[in-house]
Amino acid sequence: MAMHSHIERILWSEDQISRRVSELAALISADFPSSSSSPPVLIGVATGAFLFLADLARKIDLPITVDFIRADSYGSGTLSNGAPTISLDLKVDIMGRHVILVEDIVDTGHTLSKVIAHLKSKGASSISVCTFLDKPARRKVTFEPVGEGKTYRGFECPDYFVVGYGLDYAELYRNLPYIGVLKPEHYN
Ligand code: 5GP
Ligand code: MG
Ligand code: MG
Repeated sequence: MAMHSHIERILWSEDQISRRVSELAALISADFPSSSSSPPVLIGVATGAFLFLADLARKIDLPITVDFIRADSYGSGTLSNGAPTISLDLKVDIMGRHVILVEDIVDTGHTLSKVIAHLKSKGASSISVCTFLDKPARRKVTFEPVGEGKTYRGFECPDYFVVGYGLDYAELYRNLPYIGVLKPEHYN
């Protein structure tokens, strides 16, 4: 696909993303035995994780349950305010279930910490984290998987504000099939 005219640079192409998502799905498929009585619950953090979750779910070779949760941090533009609240809760009961939390990107870590605490309070027996991007340079709070949960990450992201593959700027660019950086004139 041709590069969108607002994009200055592509960090990960559609092909690179596809290969990495296949690797993550293979790791997850190996870590969660399909003989287990209740299948793992993939929980996407809306809206950013929607494409990653869709691709990952199709490549995981296990029975799974899928649900979404939404956390809003009432920040604007490229910064979050550090106090996310859960604004859309789960449909599925996760009591005693193995949960795999699927995120687009971990930046300060506030969102993930909040969501993990929330899922823990609902009685998940383990919580793994599968984030497509990880931006460790900006971490303010660390997150830990729960119980026997593991951490999976697609790519380590340099300290740029990125868009595409689910990630937005002002609710645009989520549908780009690659991860890129906007030209400076398109941020305001
Ligand atoms: P946190 O700072 O709480 O770890 O991240 C909160 C949310 O901010 C992420 O889930 C994501 O939606 C958004 N975010 C963080 N870094 C970026 C980025 O580089 N690009 C975009 N589009 N969103 C980001
Ligand atoms: Mg997110
Ligand atoms: Mg956003």
